[in-house]
Amino acid sequence: MVGLAHDRGLELAVRSGGHSLAGHSTTEGGVVLDLSELTALDLDLAGRTAWAQTGLTAGAYTAAVGAHGLATGFGDTASVGIGGLTLGGGVGFLVRRHGLTIDNLLAAEVVTADGQVLQVDAETHPDLFWAIRGGGGNFGVATRLRFRLHELPSIVGGMLLLPGSAEVIEALVATAEAAPEELSMIANVMVAPPVPFLPAAAHGQLVVMALLCYAGEAAAGERAVAPFRALADPLADMVKPMPYAGLFEAPDDMEVVEESARSMFLDRFDGAAAATVEHLQASTAPMAVAQLRVLGGAMARVPAAATAFAHRDRPIMAGVGCVYEDAGDRPTHDAWADGFAAALRQGAPGVYVNFLSDEGPERVREAYPGATWDRLVEVKRRHDPDNLFRLNQNIPPGPA
Ligand SMILES: Cc1cc2nc3c(=O)[nH]c(=O)nc-3n(C[C@H](O)[C@H](O)[C@H](O)COP(=O)(O)OP(=O)(O)OC[C@H]3O[C@@H](n4cnc5c(N)ncnc54)[C@H](O)[C@@H]3O)c2cc1C
Repeated sequence: MVGLAHDRGLELAVRSGGHSLAGHSTTEGGVVLDLSELTALDLDLAGRTAWAQTGLTAGAYTAAVGAHGLATGFGDTASVGIGGLTLGGGVGFLVRRHGLTIDNLLAAEVVTADGQVLQVDAETHPDLFWAIRGGGGNFGVATRLRFRLHELPSIVGGMLLLPGSAEVIEALVATAEAAPEELSMIANVMVAPPVPFLPAAAHGQLVVMALLCYAGEAAAGERAVAPFRALADPLADMVKPMPYAGLFEAPDDMEVVEESARSMFLDRFDGAAAATVEHLQASTAPMAVAQLRVLGGAMARVPAAATAFAHRDRPIMAGVGCVYEDAGDRPTHDAWADGFAAALRQGAPGVYVNFLSDEGPERVREAYPGATWDRLVEVKRRHDPDNLFRLNQNIPPGPA
């Protein structure tokens, strides 16, 4: 298929879980290389590693290795493919405990633009192994990935729902930054929908759904979660000891028709940043959300140059977005997302490549600061000089 697209000059879309936010895993008139039926998972339980085909979703992988009390961290959503997620970096519920997904990637099998099947790791094709850890689908088709498995028989985790005042949100982020690094948090701020599990007084008010994951034993986990529970009277508290795979059990296949979203790294999150959540109430979309992820820990200890994901020192990742049905409303919702993002932004530019929509080449450069970009361009030139793999957050090979 790679050869066919190359020889005929057809546009090639590579698809694992089909969750590309920019719509890159499909093409009109080109070829879609759909890997979703490649779902083999070979576990080496004694060696604590797994070879996984890239058609697997994060949920399927997590459930399968979880049956052995083991885990590799992916993102927060079961239906996302391990292919696209891993190649961009992978930020999830184990990020502070075990780093990014790529920090647990030991090797890969990659089909390059000239049709070769390469086994890549730190010793063999190290340039390619460096580039696929954060550089996305620019360098070839990853058919299999080999991950490190961590012992994780249970976690303390789940959703803590708190009132979404600026004070609570600022304190929530500070609490997550101060928490032991076994604890990672992904918090979503939104206007509370009129659902029965929320008190009527909360309907229409801002709330924050803090998804917590303490990757360790129960008593220490309860101690780590206590300061979060003390931030305000919780509107709902579903945090409890559970298997790690339990975080991925909720159905997540929401049909997203249109989306306007902007993501960024932040250097700090102060009261002024927290106050920007007011923008959520100004959105005219049926659903609008701001997401905050506190980073650091194991992710931050990996040197910036070790992989193509260079934002190791950024302590917080934030995103704002809304979903709606009518594409004609896009200019209104894009303007809202741009205004909210501009108000929230603190510190240097920077974005996680997997959270980019179709935002143009300058935003792709923000994903790869300085020397990272130059090195990626060079690896691209060596392995894909004709830019066959261009339907992605593209790193053009540049002139020879
Ligand atoms: C609901 C939702 C939640 C998310 N949550 C998280 C999260 O918590 N953490 C996080 O890190 N990310 C998250 N993401 C972002 C996600 O990592 C990216 O959208 C990712 O690209 C999806 O991978 P996929 O395989 O499902 O998508 P696909 O659409 O199949 O692939 C996306 C792109 O990746 C490349 N690609 C995919 N597979 C391969 C392959 N095997 N070989 C070469 N190139 C390939 C291609 O360029 C393709 O266009 C989320 C996305 C969504 C929609």
